[in-house]
Amino acid sequence: MKIRIWGARGSVPCFSKKKNHFGTNTPCVELSLGHERRLIFDAGTGLVSMGNHMSEHRPKDAETINIFLSHFHWDHIQGLPFFKPVFRRDAKIHIYGKEEIEKVFSSQMITPFYPVPFGALPAQIEAVHLESPEELLGARITPFQVNHPQGCIGYRIEAEAKVIVYATDTEPDGGRLDEILVSHSAGADLLIMDSNNSLEEEKDRKGWGHSTWKDCVGVAQKAGVKKLLLFHHDPFHDDEQVFEKESLARKEFPESYSAYEEMVLEF
Ligand SMILES: [Zn+2]
Repeated sequence: MKIRIWGARGSVPCFSKKKNHFGTNTPCVELSLGHERRLIFDAGTGLVSMGNHMSEHRPKDAETINIFLSHFHWDHIQGLPFFKPVFRRDAKIHIYGKEEIEKVFSSQMITPFYPVPFGALPAQIEAVHLESPEELLGARITPFQVNHPQGCIGYRIEAEAKVIVYATDTEPDGGRLDEILVSHSAGADLLIMDSNNSLEEEKDRKGWGHSTWKDCVGVAQKAGVKKLLLFHHDPFHDDEQVFEKESLARKEFPESYSAYEEMVLEF
């Protein structure tokens, strides 16, 4: 399987030349499971780049596109209105997530915010409310709750004898949700986790729903994870700061990497 990062930034795509290496697109992760089998996690602005890539490389592709949303905060949904396949009549798009998917996207594209109503998009879009594990394209996708204002879903994906965990937008709660995160990450080949805050920033950001590299390392160690991908970089951290967090994490957990746009990992 192959993982491709289309957006690793949190909150807002705030570009600067000092952020070229890690990029500024907001969350979107593609998991490919061989020919025409892929799962997409989150629809941040990285999804726009992915849609462009899809239309350039496989313009006649009529696969069903499966998008799993963690939650509905802007940085995780903002790419959908600009995702090229939504304008293709032959595209089938299934969006998995919490209840109210249709309501959220209908509101996002209402006048005067967007010129085309959600219901008028040419693609065949279906919303799927996900509560229990889903078997799809040979993968088992297990949703679980993480700690974030207004709720957020983490995903454990088991396929081809590998385990990938996507846990963005989460803050340690010191209790039940920490245990849920560790148990769902158990033995993972890759943990992709929110690492938004620096250790200095953390003190003033209680309740914002984000973690530090140190929190990520803690989960990776407790869960016996093989590789850790630091994700959801703060929008105002430049490349130097994101490299710094990677090197701090590596001192405690050598297999730590900061996710960057167009990064590809193979398992
Ligand atoms: Zn976010």
